[in-house]
Amino acid sequence: MPKPVVAIVGRPNVGKSTIFNRIVGERIAIVEDKPGVTRDRIYGNGEWLNHEFHLIDTGGIEMTDEPLLTQMRYQAELAIEEADVIIFVVNGRDGITGADEEVSQLLFRSKKPIVLGVNKMDDPTLHEKMYEFYSLGIGDPVAISGSHGLGLGDLLDEVTGRFGNIAEDDYDDDTVRISLIGRPNVGKSSLVNAMLGEERVIVSDIPGTTRDAIDTPFERDGKDYVIIDTAGMRKKGKVYETTEKYSVIRAMRAIERSDVVLMVINAEEGLIEQDKRIAGYAHEEGRAVIIVVNKWDVLEKDDKTMRDFEQKIRDEFLFMDYAPILFVSAKTKQRLHKVLPLVEEVSESHNQRVPTNVLNDLIVDAVTMNPTPTDHGGRRLRINYATQVAVAPPTFVLFVNDPELLHFSYRRYLENKIRDTFDFMGTPIRIYARKKN
Ligand code: GDP
Ligand code: GDP
Repeated sequence: MPKPVVAIVGRPNVGKSTIFNRIVGERIAIVEDKPGVTRDRIYGNGEWLNHEFHLIDTGGIEMTDEPLLTQMRYQAELAIEEADVIIFVVNGRDGITGADEEVSQLLFRSKKPIVLGVNKMDDPTLHEKMYEFYSLGIGDPVAISGSHGLGLGDLLDEVTGRFGNIAEDDYDDDTVRISLIGRPNVGKSSLVNAMLGEERVIVSDIPGTTRDAIDTPFERDGKDYVIIDTAGMRKKGKVYETTEKYSVIRAMRAIERSDVVLMVINAEEGLIEQDKRIAGYAHEEGRAVIIVVNKWDVLEKDDKTMRDFEQKIRDEFLFMDYAPILFVSAKTKQRLHKVLPLVEEVSESHNQRVPTNVLNDLIVDAVTMNPTPTDHGGRRLRINYATQVAVAPPTFVLFVNDPELLHFSYRRYLENKIRDTFDFMGTPIRIYARKKN
């Protein structure tokens, strides 16, 4: 289930970043430092009464050269494009300004759910100033004070109350959802077109639509797949060209909706920091991953080029040593026929179940070869029993005498043993320790 996206829109100085910081607290997903951007916190994860969501502060992009109204229009467009719910913030002490009116009309026309926050209502005597904001015609205003932390609960009740209308995927469980993630111009659209152009691929006539994304369902050798969000990928609006940052939230969204993530890298450029963050997100979310190095045709190659490139990727993605790497060219079609069979393979390991008796034999052998660790007091980890509790990603629980005794290195050792015995290529696996009762 993808997390909903909430965007904050409003004039400069109404208190957007104050509110953003209040909601996000210290749980910051991504921090982006770039010269010319005064704020480094633009996305965060919010949580309110069991609802988790992404939060975007659209005031985070600075377009100082642009007139106020142009900036505001960009921000509103961006919010309309990316968000499931928009928080429109106004300054209650200023009353309604021309820019407020303009923006609320844009937002209203988009038909997106909007929550109107009237900020700087630091004490109840100011509340009578709220009433004029009804005339914006975008619903009941909520009185808040970002700096005093007042009314934010009411605001978030309104926001999360509008999550119910967000459409979910309705593909069959055995449909493999694929997303292609990577910076602009790495060749994602070209790869999709090339894959869909393959002879054995039958593209469904009816595109799948989920909220504003257009997916492409297809079939190959009797198996169902869907490439998600290709329309969003192709759409390169003004805002996205000026601020690559916002494509990160789109990538996170796509990852949440996928089973298999194709992490696309341009062979000419190699890896950048953002690739690592996005790959890290796919890993944390437990998705299967294939690293696709595209534009392989462009490089001058000798017998070491591929090995060196692979080593560089491995060094950068230490946490993802399970991900296979493919070197392809969407242009010359080199090795493209390998992509979908590999998707199928990693999807199988993502959903693989290990029989309990086989797993326990394996653990016993592993412990015999390399005894479990002890703590300073000489207490030794005892593993009584192991079982796989979930797939996608494969998740194992060890019932032990004391979970604290299972350290990173031993967990890693067991993970490697499991990987040596079973083919878990392309998928993260999780191992938890639980106290046996
Ligand atoms: P943004 O440009 O919309 O992101 O606005 P900021 O969050 O940077 O806030 C602009 C100014 O308003 C700062 O000086 C804040 O301290 C102040 N401010 C924010 N929220 C409140 C509030 O609820 N009450 C009062 N009195 N000031 C606030
Ligand atoms: P996207 O922004 O990631 O979807 O990238 P596109 O698919 O739009 O490709 C960006 C540019 O790279 C286009 O001009 C493509 O023709 C070019 N391109 C894509 N794949 C390859 C490739 O394998 N080799 C070469 N030489 N160019 C490519």
